[in-house]
Amino acid sequence: MSFDITRSVRPHISPAASYTPGVSPENDPSVARLDWNESPFPLTPLAQQTLVDYTTANRYPEYSQIRLREALAAYIGTSVDRVIAGAGLDDVFNTLAMTIISLGDEVIISEPTFGVYRHMFTLHGATMVDVPLIRDGNFHLDADGILAAITPKTKLIVICNPNNPTGNLFDPLAVERIAHDAEVLVAVDEAYAEFSGISHLDLANRYDNVVLFRTLSKFAGLAGFRVGYGVFPESLMPYLRQAAPPFLNISALAAEIGIASLQDLGELERNRDWLVNERERVAGALNTLPGVTAYPSATNFVLLQLPVANAGEIATKLAEHLVFVRRYADPALGLVDHLRTSIGSERENNLLLDTLKSILSE
Ligand code: PMP
Repeated sequence: MSFDITRSVRPHISPAASYTPGVSPENDPSVARLDWNESPFPLTPLAQQTLVDYTTANRYPEYSQIRLREALAAYIGTSVDRVIAGAGLDDVFNTLAMTIISLGDEVIISEPTFGVYRHMFTLHGATMVDVPLIRDGNFHLDADGILAAITPKTKLIVICNPNNPTGNLFDPLAVERIAHDAEVLVAVDEAYAEFSGISHLDLANRYDNVVLFRTLSKFAGLAGFRVGYGVFPESLMPYLRQAAPPFLNISALAAEIGIASLQDLGELERNRDWLVNERERVAGALNTLPGVTAYPSATNFVLLQLPVANAGEIATKLAEHLVFVRRYADPALGLVDHLRTSIGSERENNLLLDTLKSILSE
């Protein structure tokens, strides 16, 4: 008798991978790893010292990660009673999905956007509804389309702002209109907020259907430690606490490193200022390459359009020269002739610029 494993798997979970990750090798300093939107900076001095001094791995993390949540709340400027943390922003989204999504509920997203939403909410049994960004030289949120797409099954609208992979901030009036008119939860993914100079905390304070998602992966350079957090209305918090695991999936060490990094805020802000300047330098240099358009960015990456039908071929050539950038092979996204490059170290960025220039002149 042969056992049919598919009968054990929940019906909406497909074996097809639905998130395409970056392809660059890890921990190889000779490559330019520009396909993950990581920070090029090492730990801050305090965080590095905390790592060296850490001796209590036999102890469980602090219950409910209270000190970490206090540090995050103080940093963003809200009450700890509104903050949940998780093993990265993705994990906080997972906690929200556990709390609100039943099989067949609808989640509205606007493609092209961060691929994890589709993957993760589908795992929870949601049906994804795409109201694509409007393209007219840049990428705009279709507020009318989003509001018209709401049905009695809609549980959540996700707005990635600034958006990955396009890099831009949406019109604040469009975001506010959605928050105001939609009688469903609106999640604003602010993974790149610190590079944009804009926070939606004020919006979340004014509308109790607005929830914010943040991370220490980008601005604080802690992608490997997995620390994300969200700001929620207090009315939702008891439910989220039920859905989240006791230690919020964050190791004791990651929590200590997160707290120490935020104590070194001045250092993080200097790093951010360097990165924003470097982003403008790189975007400017990309725009001087023949046929290349770098879109304005409010993040730590730049989306570029190339003068070829299939930018994947250029990405392959860049990889042969040890420069790894993100490609968008799925024609449904409309970005087949685009690539996305993170702002890395000066060496990595220059390697990208020089290599791309020579590939395009071949
Ligand atoms: N949201 C967006 C828009 C992202 O681009 C990323 C990372 N690429 C994340 C969330 C994931 O953040 P974290 O590392 O905190 O899970």
